[in-house]
Amino acid sequence: MQMKHKPKLGQNFLVDDRARHAIADALGDISKRTVIEIGPGHGAITEILATRCRKLIALELDRALAAELTFRFRNQPQVQIIETDVLKTDLRALVPEGETADIVGNLPYYITSDILLSLFNAGSTGHLARAVVMMQREVAVRVSAAPGVRDYGLLSATAQMHARVENLFTLPPSAFSPPPDVHSTVLRLDFAPRFAELGVDAAGFDSFLKKSFAQKRKTLQNNLRAAGIPVDQLATAWPTGIPTLARAESLTLNQMAEIYHGLDTVKMKK
Ligand code: SAM
Repeated sequence: MQMKHKPKLGQNFLVDDRARHAIADALGDISKRTVIEIGPGHGAITEILATRCRKLIALELDRALAAELTFRFRNQPQVQIIETDVLKTDLRALVPEGETADIVGNLPYYITSDILLSLFNAGSTGHLARAVVMMQREVAVRVSAAPGVRDYGLLSATAQMHARVENLFTLPPSAFSPPPDVHSTVLRLDFAPRFAELGVDAAGFDSFLKKSFAQKRKTLQNNLRAAGIPVDQLATAWPTGIPTLARAESLTLNQMAEIYHGLDTVKMKK
């Protein structure tokens, strides 16, 4: 079945029946939960969730699709369709007071990273518990990569500071209409920010990670030097167990936090 679509909005609709059920199942028991769906499209996943969760809020940018879904779910008051741009929507405001919500979505690929950052923000303030999201396989591999492997970088470190990441399954282009040029992977993110456990402040550590991963070719010390941290501070602060030529890509988040603490202590003594 070929459906009308707008490639610019990342409209590749899921037509694999098993896959859409597997995505819904990956949320677990949602009978008492509020679920927010990003980009419901023609409702492939929406339809399954509508009868399973307590409240479903679906955010769709395409006016015609939003109208189609509003009409289709008009007799199901637990389903709310909002015509909106997810990146301009405050997800926190959609979560009932004192509760958490779950996220689901076959994401529009052109804005995957921005959506993930917005989820991490809402996760870090305790508004989200879980997300089951499909994205381009290459991006999913980066999000879930462990330190030391080729795909590990800033996106992996940022994601893993905010959530436990599980790689669930990968679908071929034929699972979609029209088929995209890439494979797609479903990840489950269980939000569990690590800032308190590692004893770092979220804003400061996020900015430290950005500086640390600024240039892949460079050692971590060179990236930090390029960001304005003086050589003598780096030398004094550097933990003995971490090689001076290490790259950020090879270090665990615990080791990154150790370096961050070292630099903080040196700065405070100055
Ligand atoms: N969930 C449907 C499915 O699995 O068949 C559609 C998925 S399709 C990959 C992505 C959907 O996101 C499209 O319906 C598209 O219109 C919508 N979309 C694109 N950009 C968006 C945005 N900024 N905010 C909300 N929805 C958006």
